[in-house]
Amino acid sequence: MSENQKEVRVRFAPSPTGRLHLGGGRTALYNYLLVKKMGGKFILRIEDTDQKRYVETAEQEIIDGLHWLGIDWDEGPDKGGPYGPYRQSQRKEIYQRYAEQLIDQGDAFYCFCSTDRLSEMKRLQQQRKEFPHYDGLCRDIPVEEARKRIAAGESYVIRFKTPKEGTTTVRDLLRGEITVENKTIDDYIIVKSDGWALYHLAAMVDDHLMKISHVIRGSEWIPTLPLHHLILKAFGWDEPVWIHLSVFLKPSGKGKMSKRESADLIKDGYSIFLTDLKDLGYVDEAVTNWIALMGWSYDDRTEIFNMSQLIDAFSLEHLNPSPAAINFTKLDYFNGVHIRMLEIDDLAQRIQPYFEADGYTADLDTLKKITPIIQERIAGLDEAPKIAGFFFEKEVHPKLEDLVQKGLDAAQCADIATKSYQILSALPVIDKDHGEPEMRALVEELALKPAQVFGVLRVAVTGQKISPPLFESMEIIGQDVVLERIKNAEKMLKAA
Ligand code: GLU
Repeated sequence: MSENQKEVRVRFAPSPTGRLHLGGGRTALYNYLLVKKMGGKFILRIEDTDQKRYVETAEQEIIDGLHWLGIDWDEGPDKGGPYGPYRQSQRKEIYQRYAEQLIDQGDAFYCFCSTDRLSEMKRLQQQRKEFPHYDGLCRDIPVEEARKRIAAGESYVIRFKTPKEGTTTVRDLLRGEITVENKTIDDYIIVKSDGWALYHLAAMVDDHLMKISHVIRGSEWIPTLPLHHLILKAFGWDEPVWIHLSVFLKPSGKGKMSKRESADLIKDGYSIFLTDLKDLGYVDEAVTNWIALMGWSYDDRTEIFNMSQLIDAFSLEHLNPSPAAINFTKLDYFNGVHIRMLEIDDLAQRIQPYFEADGYTADLDTLKKITPIIQERIAGLDEAPKIAGFFFEKEVHPKLEDLVQKGLDAAQCADIATKSYQILSALPVIDKDHGEPEMRALVEELALKPAQVFGVLRVAVTGQKISPPLFESMEIIGQDVVLERIKNAEKMLKAA
């Protein structure tokens, strides 16, 4: 198999240090789309070597978030596979072995500098307005001597020995060639004093051993890309295709969103965290569609995609490296569109938990009847109980001020209620074909506006000024209950 016919093998490599956000979701999605389009394998690798930042619940939340988006993998900690373990915390010896290899080759060195010395060095560099970098004190300690010091119990880290002359050029698929002078690349730490490899070594070793063909990752790794290139070169390993995605900017387009700003979003009903978006009433299809288009486009027209359409349409060439402003208005729009595309039974099932969250016991049979009349009217699943919760109330409690319509007094509205009762109780059924013509005749007879007459009826029956279509709603509620509610409203109005 020649170089460009290599099997596509990609990985999503989250660190379980926090919640899965849009950026992570998008990286995972593009990896997934590439593999589904080209055929190949998608690997989930958990990069959990940072004990200090480890968050117990993070891994499960990441997995749930990926599954919610419809993303699944072929190899991973939960699935196994030929190149495991897929959890970096179980690969410590592998990294140590490769770190030793670099030392033996002269491409890495043991460094014994104390943190005090390093901070003093940094301070002086700042004073001299130099870029902070390791000054090379331990670079040339003979390996034998260093190993003796280690055996005697001295604490150390391992640093990569970056060449100090010449330049390094790496090619990113979206950005073309990136060239830097080697003297600007620091002697980065690759193994910490606790013996754990850092990302720069661990990820390169894993990507090689796991035969990763394309590395699609965040643009925060561009500054250390030349280092990664040099590490691969030192081992004599092939390089993957590098793809560094665009950054996300705040909705205003001005700068990146801070942690604080991200947390504050929830007050406006938005979030950058995937599991929050689910709770906020977004359907996964909308979120997937939305994040897919934050850094990729098919053409300048088509914007509604489901997952299989995304797979068909996806290509790396159409990824866009320019920063993308987070646009929640667009998300709301996609949510409405995807909600309207759902099958009734599917939508009924999806809104059920939102009714429950709002305290209603909502059975699926009734929900299936309600769904067709609210599907066009909700922009989020969470809105369903807000406009249709009354279907599950034994009684409604209309406000007097809502029952009294604009331009009328309570007595006139009581009269509307009385007459509506007479009309609707005389019908064999109330539904979208029975009741409306008779009620329209009443509007004529009373020489009132339709909004006034239907307003009384709507508030009486639903308890709300805004509701799904009235006659369809009354059909679901049932004639007896409808009549009882009109009676109650009539009483309230008469007593006013
Ligand atoms: N663990 C790294 C992170 O979460 C992975 C970066 C990569 O995809 O290589 O940022």
